Amino acid sequence: MPHATKEARRAWYQRTADKRRAEKRAWRDANRDKARVIERKWRRSPAGKLARARSKIRYRAGDSGKEAHKKDARKWMDKNPEKTRAHRILNYAIKRGVVSKEPCWICGAERVHGHHRDYSKPLQVIWLCHRHHMEEHQIERQG
Ligand SMILES: [Zn+2]
Ligand SMILES: [Zn+2]
Repeated sequence: MPHATKEARRAWYQRTADKRRAEKRAWRDANRDKARVIERKWRRSPAGKLARARSKIRYRAGDSGKEAHKKDARKWMDKNPEKTRAHRILNYAIKRGVVSKEPCWICGAERVHGHHRDYSKPLQVIWLCHRHHMEEHQIERQG
C-alpha cells in the first residue's frame, strides 16, 4: 500500500481499519466470555489505562469534547467569579508582558500555571507545574 497521496493512504488505512474492527467484533461475538476477560485485563493494565486517558484527551480535542469542555469551564466560572477575575487579569498581564512566567518553583519545569494563594491579588502568583500545582491545592484543602 504505502504510496500515492496522503489521501489515498488515509483511505487505505480507513478501509483496513474498518475490516479489522469488523473482524474483531465477529470474534468478540463468538467468544463473549473470553473477550470480557481480556477486556477487563486490558483495562486494568498500564497500557489500557494510558489508552483510556488518551482517548479522553482525543474526545476533548474533538468538537463535541471542546463544547463539553467549554460548558464545564463556563460552569466553573459562574461558580468562581473571583477566581475567574484573577485568572483573566493575570492572563492579560502575561500577554502585555507585565508579568512573566517562571519555571516551576519546586521542580523547575517549564510548563507552569500561575497559582493564586490570594485571589484578591491577581498578579501575585506562585509558578507551579501541573503536578506541583495539584499538590499545592491538595495541601491547601487539607488546611
Ligand atoms: Zn513542578
Ligand atoms: Zn492554583
